[in-house]
Amino acid sequence: MSLAAAAPGAVRFAPIERCWICGGSSLARYHQCRLDFTEYVRQDPELAAYSGRGVWLVRCAACGFGQPEALPTLPRYFDRMYDQRWDEAWVEREFEASYKDFIFRTILRELSRRVPGGERRLLDVGAHAGRFMHLAQAAGWHVEGIELNPRTAACAARRTGAPVHQVNAHALADDGRRYDAVTLTDVLEHIPDPVRLLTTVAALVEPGGSVAVKVPCGPSQFLKERVLASLLPSRRISLADNLVHVNHFSPGSLRLALERAGFTHVTVETGAPELLPPDGRRWRRLASNAVRLGVYAAASLPGAVGTPLALNLQAYARAGGRR
Ligand SMILES: [Zn+2]
Repeated sequence: MSLAAAAPGAVRFAPIERCWICGGSSLARYHQCRLDFTEYVRQDPELAAYSGRGVWLVRCAACGFGQPEALPTLPRYFDRMYDQRWDEAWVEREFEASYKDFIFRTILRELSRRVPGGERRLLDVGAHAGRFMHLAQAAGWHVEGIELNPRTAACAARRTGAPVHQVNAHALADDGRRYDAVTLTDVLEHIPDPVRLLTTVAALVEPGGSVAVKVPCGPSQFLKERVLASLLPSRRISLADNLVHVNHFSPGSLRLALERAGFTHVTVETGAPELLPPDGRRWRRLASNAVRLGVYAAASLPGAVGTPLALNLQAYARAGGRR
């Protein structure tokens, strides 16, 4: 007996009829993602009741953006899904972990080019355990973060000594806070209706300041999953199970999302990859990182951001610079 059958009528979805980025209504199904919350049976039975259901992803014919065809109507669905009670030792290891440092250093290098020197303030949205805030401090930025998970927020605040706000970006913008740079690294793909968040982020950036957004590239990740599933019989396509990713950006739709939010001077490049950190298996790490860096180098050639080699996208844009 499925859990969904055990709770008749409790599981509902609300359709999304228009593209979140361009408003287009020509949306074609391309992949069905699975919902599986069996491990939440005790913690959250209402969420667990969605297990076994599927949600189609649809692609907009006009702008190339991919999004769910419908969302669960369960109140605070995403908050409940992300209600992970990590233990403190794991959170500390996340602060120490260097697997994203190549991405972080690339972003800091670009932002320091775009934002004039002096007293520069940076807000990291989705600060996690605070690793990026720490690296930004070391590069001379005055940093703050937004992090909703209490355990990671506490770690980020303790390790950086900087303010970590446990409120969403809308509340911070209403408070009148402004920054020279705002970063969203592996965050925007998780938030429904992303132009709404980006519009708020635009209000958080001082005129002339910059935003940096890193997301997975939707079409490239889908192709990669299909290739791996065809090569490895035991592997199935896993793209957005449980709707962990609701936004599947192409380079064009990421650009459009930033423009619709009021940003100007938008550039969309190939995003830097995660790299395996030092561990006991040195040769495996070196080989894997060589492949990742090789693909990244090829995908960074002029025009290659539009090819399947660009597995991640990195965008920069300016606020308040409309001429
Ligand atoms: Zn669209």
